[in-house]
Amino acid sequence: MVRVDHPVAIITGASRGIGAAIALLLARHKYKICVNYNKNQLAAQDIVRQIEEIGGAAIAVQADVAVEEQIVRMFSIVDQKLGQINALVNNAGILFPQTSVEHLTAARINQILQTNVTGTFICCREAIKRMTYKNGGAGGSIVNISSRAAVLGSPHEYVDYAASKGAIDTITTGLALELADQGIRVNAVRPGIIYTEMHASGGEADRVERLKSKIPMQRGGYPNEVAEAVYWLLSEKASFTTGSFIDVAGGR
Ligand code: NAP
Repeated sequence: MVRVDHPVAIITGASRGIGAAIALLLARHKYKICVNYNKNQLAAQDIVRQIEEIGGAAIAVQADVAVEEQIVRMFSIVDQKLGQINALVNNAGILFPQTSVEHLTAARINQILQTNVTGTFICCREAIKRMTYKNGGAGGSIVNISSRAAVLGSPHEYVDYAASKGAIDTITTGLALELADQGIRVNAVRPGIIYTEMHASGGEADRVERLKSKIPMQRGGYPNEVAEAVYWLLSEKASFTTGSFIDVAGGR
């Protein structure tokens, strides 16, 4: 990747939680940020405000990553307002209330796959069009936010979500190989149990408290601890690292 003073990064699902922490950390490291969100415009605008307060540059762009045309529109807004993209963090992800596989419906499974997997594919496609050498780009870096669920399977909670994260791991491996000679590194971070509002979507806001004694480090993780791994993978410090996974999970 060609070195750029103020690289441009798109972070999907950056209005709160892990995505917001990544946006703020990258802004501190002089990235210009697209804070993508789906529903919570006020929260996204607040992240933009926090970035501006520390002297950074950011825009909030609405796009549901489950909808192809909205992703295409987001990338074109970034082209116009921030310039050539250098980094993509596929962070947006959803899960639904805890249940067993015997109670899953096709509608639920498909919604998860469309957001977590298809959304990641289409964001990658738009980034590839802009960043590969063969398309006249300057290279770049992609980090996918997977989960330890991809390895552990999330039994009796959300195997559908875990399977979507297994797909993220496979995308990371395949795409890293496709793009290795095109100036683009592709890696993934697999968070363990992190303090965010996502657990409320699973129907158990206090999930971290219930499970923390099972984590070898005896605590949940914080969004900024995930963000640091993402920042390293995006940076030139990881210049020979592609198709790799960093578990940020306290030992499990
Ligand atoms: P979160 O607190 O629930 O935040 C989710 C973010 O994604 C929000 O900014 C939300 O924006 C956005 N989003 C949701 N659906 C979207 C869509 N269709 N299009 C665009 N944006 C969308 O989640 P989190 O805990 O920070 O998780 C971030 C990532 O880390 C996810 O991929 C998750 O699977 C992964 N992860 C989390 C944990 C954990 O313990 N928290 C563990 C492992 C992996 P709006 O509110 O504006 O809709």
